[in-house]
Amino acid sequence: MGIYAEIIINSDANEVDRPFTYKIPDELFDKVNVGFRVKVPFGKGNRIVDGFVFSILTEEVDLKYKVKNIISCSDDKPILTNSDIELIKFLREKYLCKFIDAIRLLIPVGIMKGIKNKKKIVIFTEKPLCGEKFNKENYISLYNFISLNEGCFTKTELTKEKGFSLYSLNNLIKNGFLKCEEKVVFRYNVRNYDKDISKVLNIEQTYALNTILNGNNLGYLIKGVTGSGKTEVYMNLVNETLKKGKSCIVLVPEISLTPQMIERFKGRFGSNIALFHSRLSEGERFDEWYRVKEGKAKLVIGARSALFLPMNDLGLIIIDEEHESSYKSEQNPKYNTIEVAEFISKLKNCKLVLGSATPSVETYYKALKGEYTLIEMTKRVNMRKMPKFDIIDMRQELKANNISLFSRKLYNEIDMNLREKNQIILFLNRRGLSTFVSCRSCGYVFKCPECDVSMTYHKNGYLICHYCGRAEKVSKICPKCKSKYVKFFGAGTERVELEVKKYFPKAKVLRMDVDTTRHKNSHESIYNSFKKGDGDILIGTQMIAKGLDFPNVTLVGVLAADISINIPDYRSGERTFQIITQVAGRAGRGEKEGNVIVQTYNPEHYSIKYAKEEDYESLFKEELTLRKFMNNPPFGKILLINASSKFEEKLKNFMYNLGEELEKIINEKDLTLLGPVPCIITKLKDKYRWQILIKGNLTDKFNKKVKETLYLLNKSVYNEIRVSIDINPNNMN
Ligand code: ADP
Ligand code: ZN
Ligand code: ZN
Repeated sequence: MGIYAEIIINSDANEVDRPFTYKIPDELFDKVNVGFRVKVPFGKGNRIVDGFVFSILTEEVDLKYKVKNIISCSDDKPILTNSDIELIKFLREKYLCKFIDAIRLLIPVGIMKGIKNKKKIVIFTEKPLCGEKFNKENYISLYNFISLNEGCFTKTELTKEKGFSLYSLNNLIKNGFLKCEEKVVFRYNVRNYDKDISKVLNIEQTYALNTILNGNNLGYLIKGVTGSGKTEVYMNLVNETLKKGKSCIVLVPEISLTPQMIERFKGRFGSNIALFHSRLSEGERFDEWYRVKEGKAKLVIGARSALFLPMNDLGLIIIDEEHESSYKSEQNPKYNTIEVAEFISKLKNCKLVLGSATPSVETYYKALKGEYTLIEMTKRVNMRKMPKFDIIDMRQELKANNISLFSRKLYNEIDMNLREKNQIILFLNRRGLSTFVSCRSCGYVFKCPECDVSMTYHKNGYLICHYCGRAEKVSKICPKCKSKYVKFFGAGTERVELEVKKYFPKAKVLRMDVDTTRHKNSHESIYNSFKKGDGDILIGTQMIAKGLDFPNVTLVGVLAADISINIPDYRSGERTFQIITQVAGRAGRGEKEGNVIVQTYNPEHYSIKYAKEEDYESLFKEELTLRKFMNNPPFGKILLINASSKFEEKLKNFMYNLGEELEKIINEKDLTLLGPVPCIITKLKDKYRWQILIKGNLTDKFNKKVKETLYLLNKSVYNEIRVSIDINPNNMN
């Protein structure tokens, strides 16, 4: 073992983003190794900070400067493995983040803050109960209860909650029949779930399972229509992997939106599953991480961050609904979950299974090229028919003087389905009552003073900015021209709820959107109510598009398909197709046939047309042609540099300088620089925003040069101008 260690410091500063050399003092010689967390003195003032050992220098090195000593080791085991360190380097290089950004993905914040395990003193049996004196009912029943529930209860719980006598308990402890011991308790969900019985797989499911289990490839794409039984295949794969003693990660787009998935997995595999998602508290997060690290939970279900849990002997990664945009992180490191999963799959030699009814263009392209083995599941389980599909041209409704949110067809269908006691889902991907408010006399639009976006009107009488959360009481008078012609435009889910209540006053309505699901378990409770039949109509944003399986839903209405078509993004066509297909897939999952009605002002749009025809292949071809022509992914890559500042002029100058510097390093012909220009949302939270795009054949090496150029230039204005780099960003607003 060596005498020097290369250490990454726990600090946010850009200048510190490199390994620092420290001396390992003799007394720590046997302790410090790669992956350990240590305390070191740092900077001129020798402030004591946390650091992570990335490598050990085994030879005496000739250092030109004085090397400081490591002070102490923080834990008795390494916190990062060698493959973790590989992963951290990969993340930093690929997504242009700092070492510390990547480290923070891998270990919970609680660790840095020194959260410890929660412990409590619980009662165990020590030796069999015997002796005349203890042959009494009170002792026997207490002793038996404890032997059935070894280590489950504390003294207080036994006496206060279970009603045993404290005197008897103490007596049994004093005489050595029972003992008290400290035990780590985990703060995780211990609710019981209904048992989920394993199904006999059909031909397509069996084929999918065997192809993956016996295949030589590491990557697989299951392209299976909604309801084709993909989840059942996942559960069988997990089962086989666990049987071999290996662990599994199952990723879902947003865990609180997929209560059903958890219900099924917990019902099948018991409660020893770790759940990992953004709504956990710091303590819960730490506990789940620890449980996985200790090998106590071998199956994890979670949102994208679960990919970074310290699984032992990982055998399988499943990414459900792989096309979902939530698999791209928007915080540093701005990683793409599928790319990272591919890296981990190669690093740990474990299988990667992607699943979707509507794979992303990038993924499907790779599957066609043979990078993933493609498996298709074309039929719904039990041969249930795909729903009937109607497209309604809303321009015709206007001509017929129908200005309500519902076309005549949708209105009639709602009415009929309510009478037949069927359930209905109405989808509108926008919340609030009115999406913008403006003056009909002078054209003034009520915008957030801190963000350059129009404010949304909500039922409580407030205008709310969906970007910064600012709320203002709505005014009936135009602040600009003082006229009274303030009018509300554009409907959100709250408006749909009002209209439903107006036209169908007897219907029981539930609404699921950001506004109704702020509490920790509110998704689950709305979901459960609807499942139990405590609602006739469920209104929601894209939260309701995912994975919900309600057998009684026979009608799905998409109120305005145009919202996603009109988003200025090269993926808008693909996204529209995906979301319509997904919502439509909620209809007709039970015995009764389903019906889907899509309302739009663009009935000819290819994404709507192909969604109706369930024609993924044609959509893919159309998209691929467009992408090739525009050099967008999967062909070219996009690098977005975003900068924001309170000082508009300074920001503009900075971006023009940056543009000039970048021009110098772009000598390759297959790269184009676009900008600098103001972002689509020119101001957010009182900061101006500008951007530069580089498009084309971006290599990691070139990207690194861009990053260096950017940070060098930013160094002198670091406090005034915030910059960020994102590769293939989710949105370019
Ligand atoms: P997907 O994930 O492709 O949407 P699911 O796995 O959720 O499909 O399956 C749809 C429904 O069919 C679920 O209710 C599931 O329990 C049921 N199911 C799946 N496979 C089978 C099978 N082999 N036999 C009977 N029912 C099945
Ligand atoms: Zn006005
Ligand atoms: Zn705002």
